[in-house]
Amino acid sequence: MKEIVILGSTGSIGTQTLEVVKNNSGLRVKALAAGSNIELLEKQTEQFMPDMVCVYNDSKALEFKKRLDAKGRDYKHIDIVTGMEGLAECAAIQGADTVVAAVTGMIGIKPVIEAVKSGKDIAFANKETLVTAGHIIMPMVNKYKVKLLPVDSEHSAIFQCIGGQHGNKPSKIILTASGGPFRGMKKEELQNITPADALKHPNWSMGKKITIDSATMVNKGLEVIEAKWLFGMELENIEVVVQPQSIIHSMVEFKDGAVIAQLGTPDMKLPIQYALCYPERKNLPGERLDFYKIPQITFEKPDMETFEGLKLAYKAGEAGGSMLTVFNAANEKAVAMFLAGQTGFLDIAEIIKECMAAHKNIDNPSLSDILEVEQDVYRYIESRYL
Ligand code: NDP
Ligand code: MG
Repeated sequence: MKEIVILGSTGSIGTQTLEVVKNNSGLRVKALAAGSNIELLEKQTEQFMPDMVCVYNDSKALEFKKRLDAKGRDYKHIDIVTGMEGLAECAAIQGADTVVAAVTGMIGIKPVIEAVKSGKDIAFANKETLVTAGHIIMPMVNKYKVKLLPVDSEHSAIFQCIGGQHGNKPSKIILTASGGPFRGMKKEELQNITPADALKHPNWSMGKKITIDSATMVNKGLEVIEAKWLFGMELENIEVVVQPQSIIHSMVEFKDGAVIAQLGTPDMKLPIQYALCYPERKNLPGERLDFYKIPQITFEKPDMETFEGLKLAYKAGEAGGSMLTVFNAANEKAVAMFLAGQTGFLDIAEIIKECMAAHKNIDNPSLSDILEVEQDVYRYIESRYL
């Protein structure tokens, strides 16, 4: 039996992870963690009976405790924890094998570090954590001899393409991108985009933040950096190709020119299950690719002038250090403001650009440097835009 912890169990990746658990008798939920959605957490607790539940929001945690107390004896053994300490406790809980890192944003950094230190493998969805703290996490992964198994569909694809290559390292990674809902449009047409427009992704159903990131192509930028850390690849050898049908999930090229791709229907349960059951492939119910029904698979260059988020990510990646935190934190804040109706769609890239220009880069930042820079960026944006 593999015991798993899900950080972010009420989200898009979290709920799909629980579906995978339901379909695999070899997986058991050891702990669950979420921010404040105690209604769903309660249902998940009833169904999966974990040993620990973290509700980050402390008043919601109290309410959750009351609800479980009212359910009686069967729920007495469940430890309810809260805040960052609670997240870290879940991540390091004794007896768990794998932690699914599926919270959104840099809030995942500390719990992921705790999970690695306590010897757990990580099924990694929470890209913002790797983007900002990859230089801290990757050496720890080697030191504690744990596995970092990608959940992001592109990175899972690359991981699957590299597997079975007898250690031959690819010379190039080709990250595919859907191009998002505004592919083909120019800046003039994007001026009045509302959150509702941007939340309509053509191929994937995901949490709000990543859906906006896909529309701005910041998501692809984060994924370029994520690939750099996960596969030890130089940025100049990571190429983004728009493949609007989302059938090819990514590709690698080897030095003899051979290109290996992973294809499939867009279903996050595949990379989630692969990460949880690795190296075994298990049956996964669902649609299969029918090549006779695919009218075409097309390729385009990304338009980095319209979707500047991708260009800025390469720039931040080249600078390295704390610039990656600035890129990510500015985006997190700008997306939250856009969703709250406080700023426009095109302002997201402008805000990131401005924050990057104002930042004095710190090489090899410590965890406290990263968290400090994050707060500085939030304060800077608030002082300029709110
Ligand atoms: P969602 O917004 O759907 O879910 C986020 C989850 O994190 C929720 O469970 C939320 O809890 C929880 N959470 C938020 N803040 C905290 C906190 N302070 N403490 C504990 N839990 C918290 O996001 P997604 O599932 O879409 O994405 C999660 C991560 O996976 C992101 O980093 C994203 O980039 C990545 N990813 C997602 C993909 C997808 O298909 N969705 C694909 C590839 C990567 P609550 O519900 O209570 O707020
Ligand atoms: Mg992805």
